Amino acid sequence: MIDLRSDTVTKPSDAMREVMARAEVGDDVYGEDPTVNRLQEMAAGLLGKAYALFVPSGTMANQLSIRVQTRPGDEVIIESRAHIVRYEQGAAAALSGVQLHMIPTDRGILDPTQVEVAIRPTDPHTLSTGLICLENTHNSGGGSIYPLASIERIREIALAHGIPMHLDGARLFNAVVATGVSAAEYARHFETVSFCLSKGLGAPVGSLVVTNDRPMVDKLRRFRRMYGGAMRQAGILAAAGIYALEHNISRLKEDHEHARRLARLLQKIPTVSLDPDRVETNIVMFDLVDSSRSVQEIVASLKKEGLLLNAVGGTTIRAVTHLDVTVQDIEKAGQIFARVLSR
Ligand SMILES: *Cc1c(COP(=O)(O)O)cnc(C)c1O
Repeated sequence: MIDLRSDTVTKPSDAMREVMARAEVGDDVYGEDPTVNRLQEMAAGLLGKAYALFVPSGTMANQLSIRVQTRPGDEVIIESRAHIVRYEQGAAAALSGVQLHMIPTDRGILDPTQVEVAIRPTDPHTLSTGLICLENTHNSGGGSIYPLASIERIREIALAHGIPMHLDGARLFNAVVATGVSAAEYARHFETVSFCLSKGLGAPVGSLVVTNDRPMVDKLRRFRRMYGGAMRQAGILAAAGIYALEHNISRLKEDHEHARRLARLLQKIPTVSLDPDRVETNIVMFDLVDSSRSVQEIVASLKKEGLLLNAVGGTTIRAVTHLDVTVQDIEKAGQIFARVLSR
């Protein structure tokens, strides 16, 4: 099976499993797991922040960041197809009591003027804007990269209104590798940044939240405990994260090359509509045109031929490249697409 459903399907390599097996551990609720502490220092350093907190998932990283920076009844400005909106079970409303102010865009990238217009005025009739969340790269936007200039402009607007910013950087390192802009340069504009070890970086579990604010770390720790995310001998998992940060960042460019290669193969198929300029990182979104079969039927046929993918609504299919996919797999995937789609 060639699995292009997501970069979350990556499995820990033998080398990664070895460092996990050897990891020094302690009770992290007491702050005594040396491997967790080392991962947190590394993550903070990479993102140019003073502190990092290891958490079980990207969802928890995002939700903790929202929780510590908002009050119930606040509004959070966010793009309408963000992971926080679509894939976190309404947690922002359920756990933080906030209202999401969703702004639709084409590719997941908010225009600074859209943000400016969405900020509520400070008068006693209106609710208050508590937080601005951006997502880089943007998953539902097709792995799109936030232009640094847009982030800088949004930051200026946020600062002028005294509103903090959170970055859902689940795939931040894909943006880093694609643009050459450092993670710290992106992170500089946000009070909190979350990123995932378990996507393209290939670790089995784990995400981090980073911040410069000491009191916020204590709050994050308390809410992590409340949400059930405080772990004990988590150094076994943190060791995989350290390995991922040391070995699997720069290789993300191979995933991007594979995505572009796949896009070129797909473009040759008459019933596929795809704009190759939109393949910026490791996600390829394409549409099926003039097909008598539904995307669900096509995805089922592809599966029978050994190719796993996700239909993401309407006529759109998403393919995600990752470290368990080789260039041969991409060539083979292209052949399976051509065969199934030309039937
Ligand atoms: C995957 C992902 C997350 C976190 O997902 P978990 O499954 O909770 O680890 C957050 N944001 C984005 C944009 C993602 O793609």
